[in-house]
Amino acid sequence: MNNKIDTPRIAVFAGSFDPMTVGHWNILQRALPLFDKIIVAVGINTEKHCCQPLDERMAHLNRLFSNTERIEVASYSGLTVDFCHEHGARYLLRGVRNMADFEYERNIADINRTVAPDIETVILFAEPQYAAISSTMVRELMTFGKEVQDFIV
Ligand code: ADP
Repeated sequence: MNNKIDTPRIAVFAGSFDPMTVGHWNILQRALPLFDKIIVAVGINTEKHCCQPLDERMAHLNRLFSNTERIEVASYSGLTVDFCHEHGARYLLRGVRNMADFEYERNIADINRTVAPDIETVILFAEPQYAAISSTMVRELMTFGKEVQDFIV
C-alpha cells in the first residue's frame, strides 16, 4: 500500500523535445489535472543527433511554460528514474501514439519498474489528430525547408 498520499504528485515528462510538438503539448495539458507538478525533463543524449542546441531548446521551453506555475523545465543526463528520485517525482508521464510506441513504452516501463519499483509510469494515449506527429517528422520537414508551424509549439 502506498501511504504517501499527502506528498505532492510530481510527474516527469522526459524526452528530447527537439522540437516540442503539439502532440507533446497535448499530453502535458491533459496530464496537468492529474498531478500537482510536472517536470518537463530534457534528456541530454550524446548519441542522438540534435537539431536545436540544448541551450536554445531550454530557453524556448522555459519561455513556453513561464506562466504555467505547475510545469517546470529541467535538463538531465543519466537515468530518468534517478532524475525522478532526485526531484521527488513518483510518476513518469509518457504518451503512446501507436503499436510501435506501445511496445517501446511497455519495455521501458518494465525496465524502469525493475530498477525503481517506487516510480509508476502513467501513459496517456495520443488524441487521433496528433498521433502522426513526431519530433523526427518535424525535423525531417525542416531539413527540406517545409513549413512546420502547425506541428510545433
Ligand atoms: P524524444 O524527443 O526523446 O524522442 P519523444 O518525442 O519520444 O522523446 O517524446 C517523449 C514522450 O512523448 C514519449 O512518451 C512519446 O511517446 C510521447 N510523444 C511524442 N510525440 C507524441 C504525440 N504526437 N502524441 C502523444 N505522445 C507523444
